[in-house]
Amino acid sequence: MARERKSDEIIICEVSNCDNESTRSLSRKKVDKELNHSLTGSGSKVKICKEHYKEFKKATKKEKKLDSLGW
Ligand SMILES: [Zn+2]
Repeated sequence: MARERKSDEIIICEVSNCDNESTRSLSRKKVDKELNHSLTGSGSKVKICKEHYKEFKKATKKEKKLDSLGW
C-alpha cells in the first residue's frame, strides 16, 4: 500500500477493504467499538465513507435502543 497522498487528493475510507471516498472523520475508539470492521491507518481519528458512517449511526442507534430495553 504505497498510495501517495497529496493535500487535495481523495482520502479513502479507513475501514479495511473499503475503497470509498471518506466523508467523515470520527473518533477511532468509537468507530472501533460500534463497527465490527478492522480499521487501517493510525491516529485518534478515523476517516470513513458515507456508507460506513450510515452503518455507524445505525449501530449507535441500536445500542441506545437496547439500553432503553434494559440490556
Ligand atoms: Zn467505507
